[in-house]
Amino acid sequence: MEFLKLLTETPGVPGREERVRAVVQNEIADLFDHTHVDAMGNLVCVRKPSKVVTGEKPQRVMIAAHMDQIGFYVRHIDDKGFIRVHNAGGFDTRNLAANTVLIQGRKDIHGVLNPGGKPIHIATEDERRKIFAVSDFVVDTGLPAKKVREIVRIGDPVTLVKPFSQIGDFVCGQAMDNRAAVWAAVRAVQRVKKSRYEIAVVFTVQEEVGLRGAGPATFGLEPDIAIALDTTLACDTPGIPDDQAVTRAGEGAGIKIMDGASISDRGLVDQFVDIARREKINFQLEVLPLGGTDAGAMQRSRSGMKTITLSIPTRYIHTVTEMTHKGDLHAVRDLLAAWLSA
Ligand SMILES: [Zn+2]
Repeated sequence: MEFLKLLTETPGVPGREERVRAVVQNEIADLFDHTHVDAMGNLVCVRKPSKVVTGEKPQRVMIAAHMDQIGFYVRHIDDKGFIRVHNAGGFDTRNLAANTVLIQGRKDIHGVLNPGGKPIHIATEDERRKIFAVSDFVVDTGLPAKKVREIVRIGDPVTLVKPFSQIGDFVCGQAMDNRAAVWAAVRAVQRVKKSRYEIAVVFTVQEEVGLRGAGPATFGLEPDIAIALDTTLACDTPGIPDDQAVTRAGEGAGIKIMDGASISDRGLVDQFVDIARREKINFQLEVLPLGGTDAGAMQRSRSGMKTITLSIPTRYIHTVTEMTHKGDLHAVRDLLAAWLSA
């Protein structure tokens, strides 16, 4: 789990994925025939087909795993050195208070993130009930304004900090969305000995702000089949009705039927279900009412693509305590590797 630990602890807000990309590049040396970074920052890695099927033109498969995580950019530094941020990606502000953050300034520094306003000891009834907006939050670096301005500029990326941990049967940390999928993509391709497909794994940028990197990458690659790898909701926790669980942690790889951005190709769904059954890999079919993955952008590229999403069930998504069951992580890796080898 060292690779996953490093991935989740490396910051990469949408538009500033370069550190995550470097971690991936370091891990995949020799795994692909050629790699390049496109103008937006997508890391495109291509492996030629290794199994010749006579009379068939090899199909190109694109596998997308986004590298970015929800985060912030510095938008204001006040006269006392307190920093205001703007979010890149959707946060639930109820989970944002009392976090440690990393600011990628001229050098890396830490701060704490809290909403402006009074602690409950001195707040009025109304003040205690307030739901905060991102714009209410303040980063305190513990440094005087002059020093802050020497290190931090408007536009520097800010990410929440949480060390990776293993809790019970789960891995836990920040940015499990989507570093768990980055991990699974690399580990799956490493397991493929021979494939009839030309395999193009694209570690995409700016998914969390509207699937921005995957579309141009798909246009450039012109694949026959496109597969998104992403985390999805595992709402098998107290306070959520059973029919709204979406997926359940520990019950296997999610094979997506639909979400708010795409409907999976039925033929691909059937193929993955058949292979999961044959290889005895746990899986669950997933319908997610809202939200989407890179499949939404890939499906509508050029004159349309056959797409599907393989999902990694994750509890408490978009918090620093994202929890993924190790069995599900392995199931997604194994299912993708088995399909690519079939
Ligand atoms: Zn994601």
